[in-house]
This record gives sequence, structure tokens and C-alpha cells, in this order.
Amino acid sequence: MTDDSFDPLYAAAHPAPLDSVTLYSAPLIIPVTGPVIMDGAIAVAGSRVVHVGTRRWVLDTLKQDLAPQGRIEEHHWHGVITPGLINAHTHLQYTNMAEVGKGSYSSFRDWELGFNPVYENLCQEGDWKQSAEQGARMMVEAGVTAAADIVTDPEAAGALASQGMHGVAYWEVMDWHNDDWRKVGVRELVRHLGRMRQEDLPSIGISPHAPYTLETAPFVDLPDIARQLDMRLHIHLAETPMEAGDRETTLSTYSAASWRDQDWTSYQQLREAGQGASAIQFLDQLGSLGPDVHIAHGVWADTEDRRILRQRGVGVALCPRSNRITVTGRDAPIREYLEEGNLLAVGTDSLSSSPSLDVLDDVAMLYDLAREQGYMKDDLTHRLIRMMTLGGAQELGMHVGAGRIGQINAGAMADLAFFDVPVYVATPRGIEDTLEELVRNGAGTNRATVISGRVVYNNGAW
Ligand SMILES: [Zn+2]
Repeated sequence: MTDDSFDPLYAAAHPAPLDSVTLYSAPLIIPVTGPVIMDGAIAVAGSRVVHVGTRRWVLDTLKQDLAPQGRIEEHHWHGVITPGLINAHTHLQYTNMAEVGKGSYSSFRDWELGFNPVYENLCQEGDWKQSAEQGARMMVEAGVTAAADIVTDPEAAGALASQGMHGVAYWEVMDWHNDDWRKVGVRELVRHLGRMRQEDLPSIGISPHAPYTLETAPFVDLPDIARQLDMRLHIHLAETPMEAGDRETTLSTYSAASWRDQDWTSYQQLREAGQGASAIQFLDQLGSLGPDVHIAHGVWADTEDRRILRQRGVGVALCPRSNRITVTGRDAPIREYLEEGNLLAVGTDSLSSSPSLDVLDDVAMLYDLAREQGYMKDDLTHRLIRMMTLGGAQELGMHVGAGRIGQINAGAMADLAFFDVPVYVATPRGIEDTLEELVRNGAGTNRATVISGRVVYNNGAW
């Protein structure tokens, strides 16, 4: 068939014979979008998965797919293979700010005061590009293949791309009053986004920082601008005590009418007026929320706030370790989020508020917190695995379509992580124990990482 007669529909149903296939086999594979597979194999050609199943089935099936001279190269791994993990909230640029994350603070404000001078100093003398790329490399070594990365200074924008990672680089917008925003802010935003586009970054988004660093106008304009440019949004929301509602509200659509009809300059002004609305309710009222938005932290989210997030299709990136270091005042309501069915993912935040960029460190803490808060169901391990893979993909809008990540199935991006945890597959209980071991003690055990079919890290895995 010549190129001018290329018919994508025909090609999809009649794939060309494969010349070269890499087979990753292991005693246990977790595809996330299908049941776990014992004695499994993943066949990868180019950047994509072509088959996943038991090793015997995949080898049988490949016989029909291979070209006459086609070759299979097998890499056997003795541990567990998962989709590449997804870090749903980080600032790779702050990798060089670990000294801030190692400090101890009495309040969120105290942490900010610790952060600011170190940041200012690095703006003068630091190298944000090097810092950000070093962070991206740390994530790759931990089995993370995609991230929601917030970029505050332009030099840091290429961090994900530097490692061939997937995800979104979100340009951060913060510290604007309404007037300055209209006069200067919009123009500045357009200039920065234009520059990021010229760098051919795979995916760019916008991060309106938080309700306490931006007044109302940017929270109205930024979603509109992002949506016109086909970009996603990511907001620090319900992280600090001042973002909590004063009381448990119900169905704010009706009950909050007392503040809805006024033009508020800022969330701060609304609070000072003695209105009990939470930051989530305020942004919801401005139209800033929607299924193209995910928020970081979601610590101060009451029943009504969580309902709003579900109703709008807004996912939460939970960052439990960061919340302790920055003194957010409480842990996120993990039990309630799980029981009520909110969309969840896991973020490490940056090294300026966390000891590592290993998502599994936060997953282990989420396991303990969920149990301490009284979540007793035996699906916890499975749900945490979903959060650190498919949940993250969903919050980044990358869970469906040709470029889908966070899952292992035919046609998906071949993003894989290889964990060195003891595998017991002789009994169903043994499999559950293996999954629990991965979730609770998997941090630091990744031995190889594949992104888009390329081995980008191999610490003696094969
Ligand atoms: Zn953050």
C-alpha cells in the first residue's frame, strides 16, 4: 500500500508485521486497567505496548504478528511491573531547595518565611534549569514517568522534557492584585506562554497559584485563557487553614446566596466580611473549577467542598508528607475522599516541603493515614495503586486516547516501572500481600524505568 492510499482505519485493523519486539516478563504484572497477571509479559514495539497477558499467551500471539525476520528480545524481571508512576503535584524547579524541606516550622506562614529568602537567593545565584532537571532525573529513578510540574521561572520549564517524561508543565501565576493583573499581568502571561510554546514542550498548562496570592480577576480570566488554548489548570487549593469554611455547609448552590450576588475583590475580602465560604466554594462561584482542573492538597475540604469537587469533575493530588512539613494544620480527609468516591492522585510536592520525590513514600503514608482515620475496607491497596497511576493520568487529562498513560494495555504508551519487592503468587492471599508490600514498602525499590518504549534507567534489573 502506498502512502497516498494510507487508510488509518485499515491500518488500525491490520497492523503491519513487527520487526522488533521487546518482551518484559515478570512473575507479577499490574496493568491497572485489567486484573493482575501472574507469569506475565508485556510486548513493546516502538513507543507502545502491543500485547499484555500471560507470558505464554503473549509469545503465542506474537508468532502471528512478527515479520518473517522479526526478533523478540526478552528482559525478565523477578519483581513486579507496573505502569510508570505519576506524580500529580510537584515543583521540580525547587529540587535545590531541600534545606527548606529539612527545616521545622511552627505554622504555614513560618514555612513561607523559611522558603522566601532561599528562593530569592537562588534567583540571584542559582541554576533553576539544573535544579529542575536533577529533580526530573530523581523521579525517573523512582519509577515516575509523568508529572504535574509547576514552573515558576522560565529556565525550569524543560525539566520533564529533559528526561523524555510525560505530563504537563504548568506556568505558575501568583501575586497579582486585580488592577495590576489587568494592566500588566495578562501581557506578561502571554509572553511567558509564548516562550514555553517555542521550546516545543510536550504539554503546557496554567497554574493559578492560590486564593491567598491572587485576587478575583486572575481566577476568572485564567481558566478562560487556558481553555481557549486547550491547556489544563492546576491550583493549590484548600491547603492552608485560612481556606477552610467557617461551618459545615450543605448544598451551597442555595445556602450561600448571601455572598454569591456581590463582586468580591478577593477571597480575603470575602472572609474579612465574615462570610463563612471556603476557598473551594469561592473558586467554584467564580467558575474556575471544571474537569480540566485538578487541585493540590485539598486538606481543608468539608462535606460540601468534597461534593463540589466531585460534581465539577475536579481531582485532588494528595501530598501528605508536604502537609506535615508546611504545617497545614491537619491531614486531608482521606477516609472521606475514599468513601465518597472523589478522584484522587498522589503528589510529592517539591523538596522544599518533602524529603523525597518518590511517590511511593507518600503512598505509604496515605495507607497509614487512611487506616488511622478509620478506612477499613480491604480494597485500600488497590485504590492506592490506582491513585499513583491511572488516577494521576486522569487528573492530567492523559488517561484516554492514543497517548494514554497510567495503564498497561494494547496501544497504550509503554511507560513501565520495575519494583524489587518480594513476590508471592502461589495463593490469592500471597498476591494481596505482594501488592500491600509494594504500597507500604515499595519506595526506593524501583530498579528500571521505561518511557515511551525506551529504557531510561536500568540499575541492574536485567
Ligand atoms: Zn505545591
